[in-house]
Amino acid sequence: MESDADIKTTPRGFHCILCNVNLPNMPSLDQHVKGRKHQTLSTVRATRKTQEDHSVFVSGFKPDISQTDIAEYFQQFGPVTDVIMDKDKGVYAIVQFSETQSIQAALSCVEHQMRGLKLHVKPREKKEFKLIPKKKSDSQNLQQVLNHLKPELCQLFSVDAQMQCIVERFQLGENEKKARGLLVQLLQEIFVEFFPDSQILPFGSSVNTFGIHSCDLDLFLDLENSKVFQARAKSTTEQAGEGMSDDGRSEDSILSDIDLSTASSAEVLDLVAAILKRCVPSVHKVHVVSSARLPVVKFHHRELNLQGDITINNRLAVRNTRFLQLCSGMEDRMRPLVYTIRYWAKQKQLAGNPSGAGPLLNNYALTLLIIFFLQNCEPPVLPTVDQLKDMACEEEECVIEGWNCTFPSLPISVPPSKNTQDLCSLLSGFFSFYAKFDFASCVISVREGRTLPITDFLTENKEEEAMQEGKPTKTPYHSPKLGPLNLLDPFELSHNVAGNLNDRSQRCFQRECQEAEKYCRSLQYQRKSTKGKSWGLVRLFTPHGEVPHIKTEQLAISIPFKSASLPEVLRSQLHMAGDGFRLLWFQKVCAAVEGVLKGVLRCHLAPSTDAVFGEDSAVHAAEEMETTSASLNTSTNDSCDSVESQNEASPLVTAVVGAKRPLSSGSDASVSPQGKKPRLARRGKPDFPQWICVQKHLVWAGRRKVRRELIKDTDLRPEGSCMEMESQVTAHIIEKEQELKEPLEFKVQPQMVGGTESTRAVLKFEPTSDKGGVFHDFFHFLEPFLPKMVETLLEKEIGSV
Ligand code: ATP
Ligand code: MG
Repeated sequence: MESDADIKTTPRGFHCILCNVNLPNMPSLDQHVKGRKHQTLSTVRATRKTQEDHSVFVSGFKPDISQTDIAEYFQQFGPVTDVIMDKDKGVYAIVQFSETQSIQAALSCVEHQMRGLKLHVKPREKKEFKLIPKKKSDSQNLQQVLNHLKPELCQLFSVDAQMQCIVERFQLGENEKKARGLLVQLLQEIFVEFFPDSQILPFGSSVNTFGIHSCDLDLFLDLENSKVFQARAKSTTEQAGEGMSDDGRSEDSILSDIDLSTASSAEVLDLVAAILKRCVPSVHKVHVVSSARLPVVKFHHRELNLQGDITINNRLAVRNTRFLQLCSGMEDRMRPLVYTIRYWAKQKQLAGNPSGAGPLLNNYALTLLIIFFLQNCEPPVLPTVDQLKDMACEEEECVIEGWNCTFPSLPISVPPSKNTQDLCSLLSGFFSFYAKFDFASCVISVREGRTLPITDFLTENKEEEAMQEGKPTKTPYHSPKLGPLNLLDPFELSHNVAGNLNDRSQRCFQRECQEAEKYCRSLQYQRKSTKGKSWGLVRLFTPHGEVPHIKTEQLAISIPFKSASLPEVLRSQLHMAGDGFRLLWFQKVCAAVEGVLKGVLRCHLAPSTDAVFGEDSAVHAAEEMETTSASLNTSTNDSCDSVESQNEASPLVTAVVGAKRPLSSGSDASVSPQGKKPRLARRGKPDFPQWICVQKHLVWAGRRKVRRELIKDTDLRPEGSCMEMESQVTAHIIEKEQELKEPLEFKVQPQMVGGTESTRAVLKFEPTSDKGGVFHDFFHFLEPFLPKMVETLLEKEIGSV
């Protein structure tokens, strides 16, 4: 083992102090210790230790002293391998020697002097190496914000007021804007030193009126004038001979190192990064991302805790930011809508790619979707971009990179909308609009305010068409990258701003719109709760698992049919059942599952009539497989006669069973009413009964310990069946532990899939109310537990026959 001191034994296994992780057993500990994380951290720790043992801490020198000066001075005590200086303050340095004896030599020197100043030389402080825990994730932060906001939102009287409140809470404050402004000014002053006549322009959410507290600072470094400056300086130098420019600036300038007219973006960005690193106080974590669609230099400002991005070829973004500002200025309802929908999308994990790149919508694309919806309201809330172009005057004409970006500079030039809908109905309108939107066959054009048939984009001859219509085009006009969601930029018409989305994110977006639309039709959305319950936006923002009507993640446990491991008696029963053996086996499995949930884990089971659940998979199964869906027979006589329908020719079978029909002779009547004739599920539109279970205790936590104790205290050998033992464990936990504050409620839908070779029972689990956030733990416990228990119960039942 790497270092025993790193590993602590705990009641639940082991804890690695170095990596701050828990390991349940020896094999996982072994694996962890050999793994990358542990190995890397061990190496980093060893390197740090070596550095500490070989270096001294120096302070008291003047800020103009360089690393080389310090290295030269300390060379007298032994070979110096490195000098690390604090860039921001310039007040201390760490001097690293190659030999440890040099430290003693340096420390025993009575007085150190450099350029008339006394230096302080101290041994390095020995710091314990610690893994800094990761910052809270975005979603954790969001959840916290929502928890704080909930009471405030619930107090308000209308959804409109709630939406205004969201703006108030999230928008950038005046001081934040000022701080950002000062940083831009500082950067401007620094960059102009290196790139004469350059301009740094903020764009994106810091200035588009939709910014939130933590939003990044997007900057465009405009080097056009620097290029002109450089070209002019070059020709003057050539005329006047070496070494002199018209204003004498070029000689010292960094511009003498680079030719802006020929340099690649990567070269210029490297230079920008170097300037940020060396010259801007408090800036750190500077790095160039050249693989992005638009290469960018990323940095972080420590004091302002601000993430910044600098691009150099992004004039269009500055212009589309102006467009968003205009929309926001001409329509007061725009900001509350955008803030609310951006927040909803973030909560539902539909927007906001954590590292910039990713398959989700970005905020710009989401805002364009909102604008498009507003253009399509009846009457429209916003005009189309083409209409805006016609409202602009001559001086406002603007063409960037061949794209027409003309629109009025002031909102006053645009006539107000005749639409009088309130925010509440516009918000629900947004959800219904995209809930039924035909993403597959059209391309969204904010420019024209309408959808265009996707077939128009499948050919490459757009250039000619555009030329004929007299539209300025970028040559050559290339078609946008088509994907599951096609949303054209309003200006750069060959760019699909949602081109990064994958099928899944598009489907999720639409499904969440459908769920939200459904919710917005309920009274809980429109009316304040008189009982102080969540209502309006609060329930809309609530993450999955807490709102019963929202379809949530489904998790499945599969129990394969393994004839070899079945007891002899059951095998012969199955044999006698002939072609109906699968259904018979499935029936037994379902009875056992019910036995485990009810009898062993003490869940309360209730019937459910929800027929929509599982439709996707069933339809899928019905369509893709040669399938017969059948409900199970009510009798427990284990006869194949009970099977109403069975496609004999089919190798694949899907059967569903549920709480409305008895699964075992011992079933609770309310759960499995006896005597009803089984119904045949319609092909493709199956009727799916299922269990609804309620669990009030943490029956899965600490079972192993309780089991150990039970065996020890009562000297109980597992002579009783496994089921008895496990039931006792549950009873013990229920007796000792407090009830869950909020009971966990979940659905279980059993289904049989597969043919002769791969018959299996699949149990789909879905939380319907999980306010305590315990469903995942419960499910992970069930994953191995349930199949094992089912196996035991099958044996037991047969044994007792
Ligand atoms: P936030 O930073 O809060 O997520 P934002 O509006 O600043 O919101 P960014 O992703 O940082 O969004 O993008 C900054 C700006 O870059 C946008 O406002 C837009 O002008 C431009 N932009 C972003 N994505 C695209 C895109 N796919 N196509 C064209 N321009 C884009
Ligand atoms: Mg941004």
